[in-house]
Order: sequence, then structure tokens, then C-alpha cells
Amino acid sequence: MLQLKNIYKSYITGGSRQIALDGINLKFRESEFVTVLGPSGSGKTTFLNIIGGLERCDKGDLIINGKSTKEFTDSNWDFYRNNNIGFIFKNYNLIPHLSILENVTIAVSFNGLSKKEKQEKAIEALNRVGIKDYMRKTSQYLTKDEMQRVAIARALVNNPKIILADEPTGNLDSKSTIEIMNLIKEIFKDKLVILITQNPGIAKRYATRMITFRDGEVIEDTNPLKEDLHQKEIDLKRTHMKISMAIKLAIRDISNKKLRMFFYVLISSIGIMGIALIVALLQGFNKQISGYENDTLANYPIVINKVYTNYSIHNTSQNSKQNQNDLKNSKLNTKNDIIYSYNSSQNSTEHINQVNKDYIDYIKQMDKDLVSEISYESQINMNILREDEDGKVSILDTSTINLSSYPKDYGQETYLEKNYELLYGYYPTNKNEVVLIVDEKNRLDTNILNALGIDVKKNKEIKFDDLIGKEYKIILNDEFYKKQNGHFYVDSSEKNLKKLYNSKNTITISITAILRAKEDSNLSNLPEGISYSNELCNYYIDDCKKSDIVKSQQDSNYNVITGQTLKNSKNKEDEIFEISGINILNNVNQSTTKNQMLSSLGASLLPSSITIYPKDFESKSDIIEYLDNYNKDKNEDEKILYKDTSTTINKLSTNIMKGITIVLVVFATLIFFISLITIFILTYASVLERKTEVCILRVLGGKKRDIVRLFNTENVIIGFLAGILGVFLAYTFIVPMNYGLEKITDLSNVAILKVENAIVVIAISVILTFIGGFIPAKIAARKDPVEFLKNQN
Ligand code: ADP
Ligand code: MG
Repeated sequence: MLQLKNIYKSYITGGSRQIALDGINLKFRESEFVTVLGPSGSGKTTFLNIIGGLERCDKGDLIINGKSTKEFTDSNWDFYRNNNIGFIFKNYNLIPHLSILENVTIAVSFNGLSKKEKQEKAIEALNRVGIKDYMRKTSQYLTKDEMQRVAIARALVNNPKIILADEPTGNLDSKSTIEIMNLIKEIFKDKLVILITQNPGIAKRYATRMITFRDGEVIEDTNPLKEDLHQKEIDLKRTHMKISMAIKLAIRDISNKKLRMFFYVLISSIGIMGIALIVALLQGFNKQISGYENDTLANYPIVINKVYTNYSIHNTSQNSKQNQNDLKNSKLNTKNDIIYSYNSSQNSTEHINQVNKDYIDYIKQMDKDLVSEISYESQINMNILREDEDGKVSILDTSTINLSSYPKDYGQETYLEKNYELLYGYYPTNKNEVVLIVDEKNRLDTNILNALGIDVKKNKEIKFDDLIGKEYKIILNDEFYKKQNGHFYVDSSEKNLKKLYNSKNTITISITAILRAKEDSNLSNLPEGISYSNELCNYYIDDCKKSDIVKSQQDSNYNVITGQTLKNSKNKEDEIFEISGINILNNVNQSTTKNQMLSSLGASLLPSSITIYPKDFESKSDIIEYLDNYNKDKNEDEKILYKDTSTTINKLSTNIMKGITIVLVVFATLIFFISLITIFILTYASVLERKTEVCILRVLGGKKRDIVRLFNTENVIIGFLAGILGVFLAYTFIVPMNYGLEKITDLSNVAILKVENAIVVIAISVILTFIGGFIPAKIAARKDPVEFLKNQN
């Protein structure tokens, strides 16, 4: 049934080739007791290992039941071993942490029997070798003789056809030797037994055939087989370790090293706890911030200004190189006292909102439940004169300089102090002091600068000093408009303007401050340009209302300047927006309404912006959606762009959140890797320690994959335990942590570990130990059982 055909095997050790088997030709009967004799190093063990499929020969062929094994794969050999071979060793090779019963059961664990069947078989085998008690104890309580009996039971239990015994009595006294030899002879009597021994007496006494080795060659065979072997199928039934077996072995291993495993689990669980706490904190911070957003940010309005500036558009425009320079400059600007002029009309970053009646109607149709208030801010048209360096006086175009008014008092700090950064000068202290507002890059539209009387062409950079202290004169209506033949007119001759400029009744305003919106301010809605206090505004309106021109305009249906008939305005609310942006001196035409005329004359306010205050955070997004809907099918220039004043805050909070997240994720990653390395080291140590088990499993026909599975199972169990413990520790730690955080930050219950997140963390723990243990498990599976066996001797 077994034939060795010219088997040749050598080893290379330290550079030289050592021939272990040098052309072995042997045939074996299905049932015979073969003893192998020979001096140490003559190749006996190697011979046995090749028959057992533990080693591969270099040359030659092993014929099993008439079939060549040349094409055998590793798995084939494992199946072959498991189904056909029983090994008995000099050192018994029992797995120390398994019970006697389990040591035997393990040999039948690869062929899919039920637990009960396996146990029955194992008990039967043990009974046959004379072990009846203490089966549930580990082997450490047994005598050497008993240990070898257990090993024989293990070889027997699977009912193999071939028994390979490598000096099974080498460690036993002579009395035990006889007993064991008798036992082997008796229970394997109808099998092929190949038994190596150093004892020629024993060999002679039990053998039906004696083979003697010397220097890798057979020098004597007392009963060689001459006839041909009859053909028979070899048994290569598929075998594999059941997961339940792997779990059993793993649990057994864990419970045998309780203390060590406890520390193993503890170390892993600390990492897992860290990850769980980080998840809890992230979750909590997120909740805190969205809560904060809901509470606070809802109060920040959506503003529709006449001019909408967006810097993100800016960056995508083609002149981005120049913008980069601008950005670079802007960093210096806080130190330099310089304003940069730029042409806003060339700049795609600015969008003029053409707010018309349609839009106002649209806003009015908005769901009333969404808004707590809509307000329409206004500006006023003033008669202002400026005197240039050369003494020339001219009318200042107020629509160009973006005249706006700011609230004078706003809580403890003034509105300006609260929302604007002072770049130069001082915050105004009386109504005649005005401020110049620049954009976040210290820029100002060239037209504004020109209108203010600054010659921009010469120098694109304007010193703060050149603007601070600059004076302008407001001419009240009665002086500004002259009446002749029932009509009013403005005498814009140079001489008259000079006269007006130097008149005593003017209001002299001067620029005292250059301001820039604070980055974190959300109420800095003033347009870039000149801004004055509402006190001055009210004063001016009061005066205008009393002026002759306004009184006559109120009483007449024609334009008191041009004499043209005025259009009728439809209703009061619409009027507000009809007048937007009208400047009397260069924009008087047929379609002017009376209201437009009056506001041009300074008697009423011009709307400059719409401010929508949402009810709460949710309604805010609804409002935004509503406003966006308006723009859907509109041309670019017809779109009305709004500014969500909470986005700055939003950005801030999301940035904080981002920062926290990054830090925590870095920590979590660190913990993850530390855990990974720890698990790697611990598993590797365990691999080294479980060499016997690994090798015995392999000898018994366990595949490499079974070994990997064994370690993986154990690691998954450990990972699961560590996960549970880690989550438990995290829940325990969250209590004092939240208490501490509440003490420090006033935020209650920051860290929250949701159940679903806890489950995820446990899963992470399992995956972590699985990954960390995978390579050591692979290493374990690679371990060559032969080396282990040979190193024992
Ligand atoms: P025996 O069992 O008869 O003592 P072995 O089969 O163990 O002999 O060894 C035969 C020869 O092969 C010896 O010279 C031994 O040194 C060598 N040998 C056996 N196994 C190995 C191995 N794994 N690596 C290197 N040399 C080996
Ligand atoms: Mg040997």
C-alpha cells in the first residue's frame, strides 16, 4: 500500500550539503510491524516524516495505494495526513493547556463530526489505551507512560491506516517500554506500523520486519516485499477545522492564561476606551455646536444690500494672480496706513442687486411664520460740496460715495466700536464727524475716492493721512436751491459754489476714522464709503422738511425743478423701492414720482438694504431656500444676492469643530496604532508559546488556514472582550469627564456615547485585534512542524 521510489533528500546546513536519504526504495504491506534501526543521523526521522507527509523529498516518489504523490498540493498532504496517518513521538507532544480528553479529540476535530461523536470516539480510544479516569484534567498530572498512552490514543482515534512512531519509548524506563510496546503491538495489530527505535532488542522482539539505516541508505531489510502493490484509492477526504473547534481551542487557551489574558484585554481595552471617548467627545461637541447654532445664529439676519461682494467668486476669476498679491498686501495693511483703490466695475466680485417691485412682492409673499421681522434700511441724499486742493469747489455725488448712516448708540459700546476695527484716526464723538469704511483688504472703489476729491490716477495707494481730517460741507436746501419764476434750480456756477462753500450756514463734516468691518462681526452691514451718524441724518431730514423746495414739492403735482408732471405712485409701500438710487441732479426724468423727488431733496430716506430676521434656525434655511428660488431662472445680473450674516460665525464654529476633530482623530489614530502594535506583540508572544499546539495541529492534518483561523478566532474573542471592557470603561469615564468639562466650560453633558457608536467601537476593537494578530497568525501557520519536531531531539 505504500511504496518509496528512489527517495532522495538532503539539507543544506552552513553551506554544506547534508544527505539525509540517499535513494530509498521500499514497499510496505497493509499490515505489518516494521521497526527501523540505525545510528543517530542516519536518516530515520527524515524517512518517517516523508512517509507522514510532513516533509517533501527532493527526488523520487512516494506512491500511496499505487498513486504518485508528485502532484500533491499542501492541502492534499494535510488531508492525507489527517485521514491516514497517526503519529507517536518520543516527547508525546501533548498540548499542555488542553485536557487529556481534548488532546485526543483534537485529532478528530478536522473531519466534521459532532461534538458528541468526537467525545465518544476519544473516550473509546482512551479506554483502549487504559486511561479511564482524569480525562478532563490536563496532562501535567500524568506519568510519562500515561502521557505516551494518551499520545497513542490520539494516534488511534482517527483510525488511520499507517502508524508512524519515532522512538516512542525513548524516554521511558524498561518496564514502561515493554508496556507501551505491547500496547502498540496490540491495538495497531492490523495496521502498518513503522516504528523507529534505538533498541535492537525491542526491534527484534516486536517486529515482523526490521529495516536498518546507515548514512541515508537502507543496509538491511529482513522481510522485503517483492510483489506488486494492488491498486486502491487513497483517502483524501477534505478536512478542516470547524469554527466551533477554533472557538473552543481559543477559549481554552484564554481561560488557561487568565491573568495574562486579563492584561491583554485590559491593554487593548484602554486603547478602545480612548477611541470610544473620542467618539463620544466628537459627538458631543457636534451636538453642542449645532445647539449653539440653533440658539444663537438664528438671530443673525439675512441682508440684501445694494452691492453684494463675494470674495470666493473673486478667487475663481482670471485675475487671481493679482488677487493673490492683494491678499499678500492685505496682510501688511494693518501696519501700513494705506488704502488701495480699485475699480469695482471691472471687478467680478461685486454684484449690484437690482431690487425691484417684483422682488419686494416676492419677499412679501414669504411665509410669515418664518420671519420675526423684515426691515428696510435707508440712506439719505445730501447736498455736499467739496473743495479741491486748487480751491475749486464742486458738488459731491452722494450716490457714488455710498452714503450710509450708522446707529449712534448701540448698547454700552457704540455700534462702530463694536463692529468696526479702527485702522486710523478716532471713532466719531459728535454728529459732524464721519467715517470712511474700507473693505476687508483695505480697498476702496476708485469712483468713491475720486468723488471724495482724491486723485487716484497719480497714486493707486492712498495714505490714511490724506483722508483723515478731510472736510466737506453740507449745504442745506434753502441755500442750495434757488427759486425763480415758481421753479427751483441749483446755481452750479463755480462762483456760486465757492460762495455756498464758504457760507456760515453750512454743516462741516470731516472724516475722523478709517474703519474696517471686524472679521467676527455680523452686524457690520455698512457699505464701503462714507458713513455718518443717524443723528446727523435726522437733523438733516428735519431741516429739509422745513425747506421751501420740499414744501412746494409737497404741494404740487409737477416737478418743482423741471416743471414736468410727476407720475402717480401706486401705494405707499411700493414707494420705498421706487426711489432707490435716484440722484436728482443727473437722473431726473419723466418717470420720477413725487416721493422720489422728495427723497432726492433729502426729505425722506432712500432704501439701502433689506434685512430679514428669521424666527429660528430651521426657518432660516427655509428663507434661504425661498430667496434662492427667486434667482433660479434669472440672468446673472437680475439675480438678487443676499448675505447670510451668520455664515461668519458658522465658519468660525465649523473651523473650531474641524480643529477639534483633527486633534481628536489624530489621537484616535495614534491610539489605534499603539493598540495595533501591542496586539501584534502579544499575539506574536502567544504564537511562540503555542508552538507545540500549532505543530501538533499541523501534524494531525490541520491546514495552515486552520492555524490562522485558530489565532484569528482567539484574537477576535479578545478584541470583543476588550471592546466590551473599553466601552464600559468609557461610559464610566464619561461621568467624571463631563463633570469636569461642566466645571470648566459650563457646557453640560458634552461627551455622549450613543449605543450605536458603542457597538461600532466594539466592532473596531474586534477588527483591530484581528488586524494586529493577523500577521503573527500567518507566522504561526508558516511554522514548519518538522523543524519543531527535529529540534526536540
Ligand atoms: P535520525 O533520525 O536517524 O537521527 P535524521 O533523519 O534526523 O536522522 O537526520 C538525518 C541527517 O539529516 C542528519 O545528518 C541531520 O543532521 C540532517 N538533518 C535532518 N533534518 C535536518 C534539517 N531540518 N535541517 C538540516 N539538516 C537536517
Ligand atoms: Mg531521529
